Amino acid sequence: MPQGDLDCIRCGECCKRLTVKITSSEIKRILGKGYRPEEFSRPDLALGGFELLRNQSGCVFLDSKKGSYLCRIYPERPKICRDYPSFGDVSCKPGEWTTRFKKGP
Ligand code: SF4
Repeated sequence: MPQGDLDCIRCGECCKRLTVKITSSEIKRILGKGYRPEEFSRPDLALGGFELLRNQSGCVFLDSKKGSYLCRIYPERPKICRDYPSFGDVSCKPGEWTTRFKKGP
């Protein structure tokens, strides 16, 4: 889960909903934790490069404990996760995700 300066409430919504691009060096770092590439990454056929795999719950590395979401690879998470939400007008406040996605794309 993103943290940084963000007041993260561990709702997990970003990790449930966003597709994460991942670089080759980030893949190597995660491989160092004992994962196999096919367990967590796939080619991004639209944009090139790679992205993290997703399942019905979101990112394959998203975990939950007692209603609080956690990242299984937090120390090795990709840069895009570390930087989030530092792009566009996305803010991260309680209820923000619900509000944004109720409006639809
Ligand atoms: S790698 Fe971790 S922080 Fe990034 S989307 Fe997946 S669960 Fe969230």
